Amino acid sequence: MADYDVIVIGAGPGGYVCAIRCAQLGLKTACVEGRETLGGTCLNIGCIPSKALLHASELYHAAGHDFPKMGLKVEKPSFDWPGVQAYKQSTVDGNTKGIEFLFKKNKIDWLKGWGAITAPGEVKVGDAVHKAKSIIIATGSEPSALKGVEVDEKVIVTSTGALALGAVPKRLAVIGAGVIGLELGSVYARLGSEVTVVEFLDQITPGMDLEVCKALQKSLAKQGLTFILGAAVQGATKGGKGVTVDYRLRKDDSAGSVEADVVLVATGRRPYVAGLGLEAVGVEMTERGQIRTDAHWRTNVSGIYAIGDAIAGPMLAHKAEDEGMAVAETIAGRHGHVNYGVIPGVIYTSPEVASVGETEESLKAAGRAYRVGKFPFMGNARAKSYLMGDGFVKMLADKETDRILGCHIIGPQAGELIAEVCVAMEFGAAAEDVARTCHAHPTCSEAVREAALACGDGAIHA
Ligand SMILES: Cc1cc2nc3c(=O)[nH]c(=O)nc-3n(C[C@H](O)[C@H](O)[C@H](O)COP(=O)(O)OP(=O)(O)OC[C@H]3O[C@@H](n4cnc5c(N)ncnc54)[C@H](O)[C@@H]3O)c2cc1C
Repeated sequence: MADYDVIVIGAGPGGYVCAIRCAQLGLKTACVEGRETLGGTCLNIGCIPSKALLHASELYHAAGHDFPKMGLKVEKPSFDWPGVQAYKQSTVDGNTKGIEFLFKKNKIDWLKGWGAITAPGEVKVGDAVHKAKSIIIATGSEPSALKGVEVDEKVIVTSTGALALGAVPKRLAVIGAGVIGLELGSVYARLGSEVTVVEFLDQITPGMDLEVCKALQKSLAKQGLTFILGAAVQGATKGGKGVTVDYRLRKDDSAGSVEADVVLVATGRRPYVAGLGLEAVGVEMTERGQIRTDAHWRTNVSGIYAIGDAIAGPMLAHKAEDEGMAVAETIAGRHGHVNYGVIPGVIYTSPEVASVGETEESLKAAGRAYRVGKFPFMGNARAKSYLMGDGFVKMLADKETDRILGCHIIGPQAGELIAEVCVAMEFGAAAEDVARTCHAHPTCSEAVREAALACGDGAIHA
């Protein structure tokens, strides 16, 4: 007799969502988590604490820079760093406790400790071995290492250390111009750090729509971030006055260096599967160290599934959550599905960036005929009243059928606005469907409608 129908290993957004859905579908469920609190990387050391710091620093910056433009008077704004950290921690605590409540509500057993799969259908936690009909691996990811750069989480830090620095550094070097590097770089730039971002590629945020990347870089440069692109970091050396990051420019192999008080290594993340015992049970991995799964999140070993950052695909909390729900439905005998063509990506900088679906570059590469509908936030009354007229919405639609293929937004509330486009894409909508939908005035969402109108007879306010 199995103790459980399902044991989920890992309580991040993939694992905890999966456990809740399994329980809701009538499966006896346990979730193993070795961390002191539930919620995984996302709630403890990822999405949530970073967004709390982004929010606090954005308001601080607005108080200093935007309030006077609106006739609002405050004494010169200042901050109390331990207070900011306490606000961040209370946000984290509120959310992780919320998951604990949901586990109790759904009668999910939290098996506290680090789990290992000792055989198909068996998970060992501490000295206890628990049996389950299905095992779902949702063990997430950890920061990738960079040759020549030794992390101590004090002066050479990953995102984990960067979220909990003892003080705001005077000079911060960020290695890697991806989402995490730019978000945390923005936090410290707003709080007064001199931020230099060193990136291997010739552009920031690789994979995003190029026009949006360029607009974002320009805007962040205006906010004081310095970019060194096309630079291969050779190493980081600690000295009396901080850390020296040495790099070589890829175009001519010339050497350069950046001096910093703190160095953030933000060069990506890799799946975390240490101690799970996957080799012994024969679970296959990909060449990139991910757990190999089929279209139903099954590994090659019967009864063992995997989801989230531990498998292929974008390392995003909502992708992990969707897989968690879908695999639960599959195990319960339903038809779980994830549409990987409609997974939005958001960068919570200011301006915010959000995108979904194809980019102009990917459509060109595929030789697909498309139309572009673009609308600047400068033509949107609400955005202008927020002093956020920079940026635009860019919608891409099939030239023949008008079906929406992708959308890229840089500007106010981009992360909220993209949801409308995701729903439209899920329903196979044409740009005209969005264009003919009444949008409330004055809202930033009118800019999305205008971009859809621009795919047809033209936007009104541009
Ligand atoms: C700084 C930062 C900011 C981010 N911001 C965003 C964002 O804004 N939006 C977004 O979508 N994504 C963001 N991400 C990415 C997001 O956090 C991950 O994609 C997401 O957490 C992956 O979920 P997961 O469930 O696969 O794994 P994780 O959240 O990594 O959870 C895995 C859990 O499994 C546990 N575990 C591992 N091995 C075992 C074991 N053997 N036994 C028991 N427990 C185990 C771990 O302790 C961990 O709690 C961010 C990441 C970082 C680092």
